[in-house]
Amino acid sequence: MNNINNDNLSQLTETLFKLNNQLDKSIQNKQAIINKIKQKYEPRTEFNRWRNSEEGKLWKEQQYQKQKQCCAICQAKIELKWSHIDHLKPISIYPDLSLDTSNLQIACGSCNTKKNNSEIF
Ligand SMILES: [Zn+2]
Repeated sequence: MNNINNDNLSQLTETLFKLNNQLDKSIQNKQAIINKIKQKYEPRTEFNRWRNSEEGKLWKEQQYQKQKQCCAICQAKIELKWSHIDHLKPISIYPDLSLDTSNLQIACGSCNTKKNNSEIF
């Protein structure tokens, strides 16, 4: 009777170990996916936060005047409130440059949208 119980116990222990290993692997895989998603979206979140800050708004206004109120891409006259902040080097490929003002310019909505749509994700 005792032997049978011991056998069952060791089988159960083995099964539990295997399940635990599988679970660990599954958690690791999911963590890797979460990290990839974070790397992709955090720079954009950070950028949006900066864009809505006083500092970001001031930068935009100054840059708008520097560009003589024109879109940096098509050169059309634009209104500040409809203008977009465009990343010369896109965030999706250069996340480190998301807040680098030397990588930013003001563009009209249609130029910026066209550019974003052509980005490879
Ligand atoms: Zn434009």
